[in-house]
Amino acid sequence: MFRRRPVRRALRAARPGPKVRLNQAHALFNQGKYVRAAEIFEDLAEGALRHRIPRAPYLFVQAGRARFYAGQAGVGLAQVKRGLKLFADKQRWGELYRTGKWVVSELAERGFKEQSEAISEWLIETLPTKVEEEIKAKAAIESKRPVLPLKCPSCGGSVDPGEVRWLDTVTAECVFCGSSLRA
Ligand SMILES: [Zn+2]
Repeated sequence: MFRRRPVRRALRAARPGPKVRLNQAHALFNQGKYVRAAEIFEDLAEGALRHRIPRAPYLFVQAGRARFYAGQAGVGLAQVKRGLKLFADKQRWGELYRTGKWVVSELAERGFKEQSEAISEWLIETLPTKVEEEIKAKAAIESKRPVLPLKCPSCGGSVDPGEVRWLDTVTAECVFCGSSLRA
């Protein structure tokens, strides 16, 4: 037992850090290598969840999208819902609303009609009505925000202006890596 410890430590040291692996996953996704991207996103999501990092739900949703793109709709739906449920558990309604609506329309566009509807129904059941009204009013204000880069310069993840957290009027935060994004 005792003798094995240095070996394990060496293995851990050889493994690239989460930041590098996040970059890899986004790059693989952009190259159409969806299964490999999904595996990394899933691993990062589990790690983020264990360490209570707030971006965990985004990583599960991203893993789910990669599974859908790979044609694995069953696993995809499970991972997307896992991410969305994490938002709901923490009452992160704004993020649940924006991410949920966006995934619903993306899946419908990609031909995953049944799964898109399942998520849509679940969102209606889950989101408090009052919250939805508040978010819509806020979204009208947010639509006047400055234009952000399409991809995060730090991790390569797609930037959705509706999903990012704004730090001030011109600076937002990447949902995947936390880097500052400038308009
Ligand atoms: Zn990033």
